[in-house]
Amino acid sequence: MATIIGPIDVSALRARLDRASEAAGQAGVDALLISPGSDLRYLIGAGGDSFERLTCLALPVGGTPTLVVPKLEQPGYAGIPTDELGVEVVTWVDGEDPYALVKAAIKGSRTAVADMMPALHTIKLGNAIGGPQSLAGPIIRELRMRKDAAEIAALRKAGAAMTRVHGAHGRVPAASAGTEREVAGDIAAAIVEEGHTVADFVIVGSGPNGASPHHRDSDRVIEAGEVVVIDIGGPVAEGYNSDSTRTYVMGEPSHDDVWDTYAVLQAAQQAAVEAVKPGVTCEEIDNVARSVIADAGFGEFFVHRTGHGIGLDVHEEPYIVSGNALPLEAGMAFSVEPGIYLPGRWGARIEDIVVATENGVESFNNRPHELVVL
Ligand code: ZN
Ligand code: ZN
Ligand code: ZN
Repeated sequence: MATIIGPIDVSALRARLDRASEAAGQAGVDALLISPGSDLRYLIGAGGDSFERLTCLALPVGGTPTLVVPKLEQPGYAGIPTDELGVEVVTWVDGEDPYALVKAAIKGSRTAVADMMPALHTIKLGNAIGGPQSLAGPIIRELRMRKDAAEIAALRKAGAAMTRVHGAHGRVPAASAGTEREVAGDIAAAIVEEGHTVADFVIVGSGPNGASPHHRDSDRVIEAGEVVVIDIGGPVAEGYNSDSTRTYVMGEPSHDDVWDTYAVLQAAQQAAVEAVKPGVTCEEIDNVARSVIADAGFGEFFVHRTGHGIGLDVHEEPYIVSGNALPLEAGMAFSVEPGIYLPGRWGARIEDIVVATENGVESFNNRPHELVVL
């Protein structure tokens, strides 16, 4: 079911549909074809679910947006004010050809399809329509990476909820007596209690596991003196996500390089956040964090980009990475999350979600950045 759990701002969605079709025209395509996912949620307020039966929003340049949906899945879109949005709904039943319905809803044959559309549908649409296909992602991301006030408010709410989870010191110390998985379970419950609809991911990396940036959790018992990386995120009702990392230590660290190395990481993260303002490029922010870490001799141990955009998806544009010369604009929201990973020993990461504002930066995660001694 395409459950609609957040508030729907009709005028904002109308404006997005208009801008998306305008951008498609500028990109030289005749229509956007959007299957269920975050692009669909961005445009009509419901993301839907993708099944073997085709659901597709056809957004022709200068024409009427049409949602082609299986009759049996139409109830899931009942909460969408399609009339006010000017979206026509065309249903189909088994035995009919939904690809022909999409073709009939557009003019011209140059289509841009949602990046995550299943190949099953992409190929059949291509066969039915006949023209060249390209990706819709580069068109839609121009809209999605520039957040409006309501989107920023939703990200701020998600960040504040996650700040409370990291601040719930009554839960994390359970680490001292448990496994990574037990701690992750406690934290997942706290993520929901504090206002997320679901705990999308919980990373609890203790000791050497902390040196693996995308470690999830395990049955490893967390021992005294170990450094623990806790990286957590999930969506709030509006669909916008939190994503925040803090690093903890179980009492006095058992490695003698923890304090000095962590101080380098903290300086790098702070410098990168403070560098955020309109006009600075994404790669410059990456370079600020990276050079602090490299100058201290840890460059080879910072093995990923400094950050990623965030919104309806946890990872989206703009990416804060070397080679991305995109200048920041007010309304661009993204993570700043440098890490230092010492293989086989321990690791640390500090992650805040920030947004570029007219004259600087606002951070949505405001827990202290120091290594938290439990
Ligand atoms: Zn990641
Ligand atoms: Zn994270
Ligand atoms: Zn992240």
